[in-house]
Amino acid sequence: MKQVPFFNYKYFYESEGSGILSVIENVMRRGAYIMQQEMFDFEKRIADYLNVKHVLSVANGTDALEMSLQVLGIKSGDEVIFPSHTFVATASAIHVNGATPIPVECGADHMMDPKAVEKAITKRTKAIMPVQLNGRTCDMDALTGIAEKYGLFIVEDAAQGLGSKFKNRFAGTFGSLGTFSLYPAKLLGCLGDGGIVVTNDDELAEKVYALRDHGRMSSGKVAGWGRNSRLDTLQAAVLNYLFDHYDATIARRREIAQRYHEQLSGCKDLILPPKPDTGDHFDVYQNYEIESSHRDLLKQYLVDQGVGTLKQWGGETVHQIQGLGLDHYNLPFTERMIARSLLLPMNISLKNDDVDYVCEQVLAFYALIDEGVLIADALQ
Ligand SMILES: *Cc1c(COP(=O)(O)O)cnc(C)c1O
Repeated sequence: MKQVPFFNYKYFYESEGSGILSVIENVMRRGAYIMQQEMFDFEKRIADYLNVKHVLSVANGTDALEMSLQVLGIKSGDEVIFPSHTFVATASAIHVNGATPIPVECGADHMMDPKAVEKAITKRTKAIMPVQLNGRTCDMDALTGIAEKYGLFIVEDAAQGLGSKFKNRFAGTFGSLGTFSLYPAKLLGCLGDGGIVVTNDDELAEKVYALRDHGRMSSGKVAGWGRNSRLDTLQAAVLNYLFDHYDATIARRREIAQRYHEQLSGCKDLILPPKPDTGDHFDVYQNYEIESSHRDLLKQYLVDQGVGTLKQWGGETVHQIQGLGLDHYNLPFTERMIARSLLLPMNISLKNDDVDYVCEQVLAFYALIDEGVLIADALQ
């Protein structure tokens, strides 16, 4: 039986291993570990790519979020609105700054719902955090319109959106600040943790610059309290190597999405992500998140056929997590969506054969449902 794992770390070693090892050797030979040339080169390349003025590399995507809110002065007594359909780190970044995370619903495309955002605004609201989820960018016209109307900051969590665009503008570049994650399974992943903050604002950039390096300015002088959240030069060197073929990476992900769409769009029960180039969106498919009213049965069937899938966030959106103090929120649209949500394999190790095999198995599952061979408790 064919095996299509959800993520193929072995393929990564086989395809990139020797190239990456020579990059690492070069860094080691020079003993260039902290804030060396490769780190600044990487920041410059991302700035050119995104067409943004400042790029600050940091230790991980969560730190990027925390520091972005911190340099805007978000503090105790403030409220920050975020979509509950996100990784817990979006909300924890609000919490660690002493502010109150306010979860809201997503819309049919699984992205933050602008109408829900507007309803959640109070006198305490200071910022909105759109999450550029699954490699798609939110409707940023609607969200920036709301932010301007109420005088709120926007901090974009674009951890899953490097290269994604809305109306030809890159995710991460709409707000006061935008952040990215370089976690291994992300679109551009290193060999551990890494993150990026981007901004067009000189003052905010200077603050993040110092904050990530013990409060030190470029002169080396400490200008205020800081922390240690630097991207290792070793990781930056690996990222520069991988970024050389980033356009091809994105193109391949979009091809895979197109292939899923062609084969699965006839299945009435499934809700698929928008196909590539729908409306104003340029999607880069960090994930391929489908909805099925027989999600758990489908997941088990695919396991039996050798296909790995994943429930995003382990099957719970942020407000549903016990222990965070947000479980009194009632977000029926998001709760229904996450109970039906499943991530199909989406990464560049997939061959066309693999994608076709996944589709065949999904369609075979639905044939068994239709014939009444598999009896499902449909989630409606
Ligand atoms: C991965 C991720 C983060 C956190 O990034 P790390 O680099 O793992 O700290 C934050 N938000 C979203 C939406 C993510 O997917």
